[in-house]
Amino acid sequence: MCGIFGFASTDGRGPDLARLRWIAAETEARGRHAFGLAWVDASGAMHAFKRPGAATAALGDLDACRHAVAIIGHCRWATHGDPQDNRNNHPHPAGRGWLVHNGVVRNYAALLRRYRLRPRTDCDSEVLGLLMMRRAGTLAQRAAWAAGQTEGPLALLGLWRNPVRLVVVRRGNPLWFAHTPGGLYFASLPAGLPSQVFPVADDSVSVLRLDDGSLRHPDLPILA
Ligand code: GLU
Repeated sequence: MCGIFGFASTDGRGPDLARLRWIAAETEARGRHAFGLAWVDASGAMHAFKRPGAATAALGDLDACRHAVAIIGHCRWATHGDPQDNRNNHPHPAGRGWLVHNGVVRNYAALLRRYRLRPRTDCDSEVLGLLMMRRAGTLAQRAAWAAGQTEGPLALLGLWRNPVRLVVVRRGNPLWFAHTPGGLYFASLPAGLPSQVFPVADDSVSVLRLDDGSLRHPDLPILA
């Protein structure tokens, strides 16, 4: 039962850090084993960070995202893979992107065999990134295909650059979002989000694209 959260800028500026800390602290209720982030700066540079331990053990870690135009974050409740081995923690790589995942890939072992995948970690979530790299097509098509191969409820956020894109996938597990003047915030739990919280549509895959560092058309297919 991990928690995930995210941010996409609508004005090219970074997130409200106080808001982000609050969201991370609330999301921690779903997992205290590890904490991780991936983000893209206004300059287009991609960064990732993860560590064992609860989000609130060092909320200052979020300050690195001060100038981020898109962020994905993870509070881990480990089901597969020791969180003390940091490779098992999220975000997990997906080619040139990063993924954070909430759920258990129940057919993880079967998928590794079927597609002859070579995992580098003991975490079931890694398989989603490995599957995405197996497929041609748009990001949305690859994300939908990879999620479709897996069994079990999930919520997933992914981050790519050039252009900056935030991938939002939900099947069964909770995922909410809220608008602010500066951007969209996402979280597994509505508690830390600003008022007017909406559920991401269940059984949906969306790719939000930021042009010049901001989301120009947040008229989202993610509304339930
Ligand atoms: N199965 C993933 C892990 O062990 C996600 C855990 C969860 O969402 O509960 O990290």
